[in-house]
Amino acid sequence: MPSNKFVISKPKPSITKLPEQGRKKSDFIDDFKQYYVHLLGRDENCRSPYYAGEALSQAIRDRLMERWKNTHHTYKSNDCRRGYYLSMEFLMGRSLSNAMLNLGVTDTVTQAMYDLGIAIEELISSEQDAGLGNGGLGRLAACFIDSCATLQLPVIGYGLRYEYGMFTQTIVNGEQVEKPDHWLRHGNVWEIERLEYSHSIKFGGHTEIQTDENGIQRHCWMSTSNVLAVPFDTPIPGYQNGTVNSLRLWKAVATEEFNLDEFNAGDYAEAVAAKNTAENITMVLYPNDANENGKELRLRQQYFLASASLQDVLAHWVGGVHGHDFSRFAEKNCFQLNDTHPSIAIAELMRLLMDVHGLAWDQAWAITKNTMAYTNHTLLPEALEKWPVSLMQRLLPRLMEIIFEINARFMAEVAMHWPADNERLSRMSIIEEGDQQRVRMAHLAIAGSFSVNGVAQLHSQLLQHDLFKDFYDLWPHKFNNKTNGVTPRRWLAGCNPELAGLITETIGDKWITDLSELKKLQPYADNAQFRQRWRTIKQAAKQRLIDYKKRKHDSELHLNVEALFDVQVKRIHEYKRQLLNVLHVIHLYNCIKKGDADRVPRCVLIGGKAAPGYRMAKKTIKLINNVSNIINSDPEVGDKLTLLFLPDYRVSAMEKICPGADLSEQISTAGKEASGTGNMKLMMNGAITIGTLDGANIEIREQVGDENFFLFGLTEQQIEAKKAHYDPVEIINQDEDLQQVMHLLESGYFNQFEPGIFDDLINSIKSPHDPWMTVADFRSYIDTQKRVEDAYRDQDHWTKMSILNCASSGKFSTDRTISEYNREIWKLDPQPVKPR
Ligand SMILES: *Cc1c(COP(=O)(O)O)cnc(C)c1O
Repeated sequence: MPSNKFVISKPKPSITKLPEQGRKKSDFIDDFKQYYVHLLGRDENCRSPYYAGEALSQAIRDRLMERWKNTHHTYKSNDCRRGYYLSMEFLMGRSLSNAMLNLGVTDTVTQAMYDLGIAIEELISSEQDAGLGNGGLGRLAACFIDSCATLQLPVIGYGLRYEYGMFTQTIVNGEQVEKPDHWLRHGNVWEIERLEYSHSIKFGGHTEIQTDENGIQRHCWMSTSNVLAVPFDTPIPGYQNGTVNSLRLWKAVATEEFNLDEFNAGDYAEAVAAKNTAENITMVLYPNDANENGKELRLRQQYFLASASLQDVLAHWVGGVHGHDFSRFAEKNCFQLNDTHPSIAIAELMRLLMDVHGLAWDQAWAITKNTMAYTNHTLLPEALEKWPVSLMQRLLPRLMEIIFEINARFMAEVAMHWPADNERLSRMSIIEEGDQQRVRMAHLAIAGSFSVNGVAQLHSQLLQHDLFKDFYDLWPHKFNNKTNGVTPRRWLAGCNPELAGLITETIGDKWITDLSELKKLQPYADNAQFRQRWRTIKQAAKQRLIDYKKRKHDSELHLNVEALFDVQVKRIHEYKRQLLNVLHVIHLYNCIKKGDADRVPRCVLIGGKAAPGYRMAKKTIKLINNVSNIINSDPEVGDKLTLLFLPDYRVSAMEKICPGADLSEQISTAGKEASGTGNMKLMMNGAITIGTLDGANIEIREQVGDENFFLFGLTEQQIEAKKAHYDPVEIINQDEDLQQVMHLLESGYFNQFEPGIFDDLINSIKSPHDPWMTVADFRSYIDTQKRVEDAYRDQDHWTKMSILNCASSGKFSTDRTISEYNREIWKLDPQPVKPR
């Protein structure tokens, strides 16, 4: 393995000092040509947007490199306290346009490419999304590290470099078909492999207690199969501030010793084949959103991330000024766990501190529980991770011993607080008893950390008073809320340059790093000329969205840009209730068929991926497509109503979608959506929300005011109260509109050649045990949608509401979220970067 130091004999001219890279148009043209011709070996005849994009990316990356090194040296020389964001998912999307924006070179580079006869938009859209995440949780991690860099906080993102990211979704006969996303096939110009910082990760084997040369007993984890974790670093530029942080993603590589035994035994081919077992670990992202699936490979992934990242931090510690003195470790380091996925890190840090660095339990535990902080992302029971003890004993025997010990001490603490309360002990135990013992990862995460946060006010309240009530009673000081956000660089300045331009022209450009500035737009909602410009920009964005859809999927598409663009894009999940949206569309269709001509033209856009194993979600996609086929081809409907499914929803698609949305559908069953962030992106781009009192919708409504938000549906408390006597069939019988909608569905009108295929969906809606209570909110939803139509008829008033939504979205910047994490949890000092 290459070492990270090389010896240079004197005299030593600097081999790293380079002239500063220019930022003039001609500099970009020269560098572009250099890379296109000399690095990539292409010529005039090639003219491929892909290679041109790659050449330009190289030129842009060069300009990040010096800033990246300066940032690294600033942190190192200041020996500052640091944060680490551990996440199994980073849904980064594309990098080129974001890097240009944050470097402040977008206009110059656009001109440079134009002079070469190249449309920069083509280069930008030829880049593959880095789709290393499922949905909200993974995108949050990406927005967070953008804000950390912009706020100049010394934070590293640690994750996994999956060979295959989130699958590509295609639609065949109305059904989702998954295609593997081999995003690295053509290479990745944004990453740098750093073999010299590799670490070895143990699996399997057994444990023994041995006495070392000083007579001290040590736990040894032996006869393990080891896998090498190799880091790949991606630069994360702050917004025009000289800071470039790192996202460090681990790749699993077979170790040399891994093959050795079999190689010596003559089984060369077997040995080489065994590489797969090791390298499988980072082969593919599990495509389940808000759902645990309990596969052994997933636990391997989790431990691989936790162990590699902690070893990395400890190696940095030991190799730096502190050496083997850990007394100030907790003062200088802080780990944020993005859900329970990386929470095995709590046991792993104990193991590394005790077994590798020789600390005693109490010292190691003090460090662990003062450095770990846990973010919960869901209350859904099906998403809470519980690993079988038997699996953990086989795969991670030393970790299982440590978890048992943590639990024994934790149970003693609980028993001190509540003597002889055995029920509470078994409720709180990290080990769940039953025919199979399981490790409750959330309990481990709470016991082993100093901070536990939810991701919106309601969600945090429910954590304290419901899911984690026992823990809140014991440790109220650990619990806090951090309402999610999104980065305004990607989600307004980058994806909607026309609107961003109007905003900057009107209130200056401070909003890009202080989104609360947007409130200065408020008075302009009453300015007719401003409203006209706002509306023109929205209409142009709607037209671009139509063009995008046409180009991508449907060249025949005919859409009315004056129609209300009604958008629901997010993972397909029963709790998000795409079904409720479809019921409304069928209701509108029924109204049109009955001759109710007085409707506002509406285009309903639904997009999202279903987990490949999630039957109901896949059926929902099929239903959307079938209903879409019937409605869109019915001549009686014309352009009064269109339903479109947007295939392969992902970050780069959302960047096209949110500027062109009028109405944002946030219609989850109250109490089920922890926060939502799609709601924030859409609001920022001037869409008005129709939503339940769920997640961050509540705070969105608080910010924008009741009169600029379409509220409907039962509250979380009403949902809970209704559960015991929920009778959907009775509700259907009492509501003529709903009856007609159900009749259309049940008659097979939307599936004439495939009888019965929607029975599961129909039965779930009609079940008294439907946890999502779709039917309970139908009437309120339909009536509120009618109010939406009435509001949309008054275009001037609608535009005013649109402006006020954008103007009130300041709270939902991740700059605000991260400032709160930093003030209340991480306590890091911003580190202005010193040029060297
Ligand atoms: C923002 C975003 C999400 C999260 O959407 P929600 O509506 O909050 O569920 C999911 N996927 C992608 C690609 C996103 O950009």
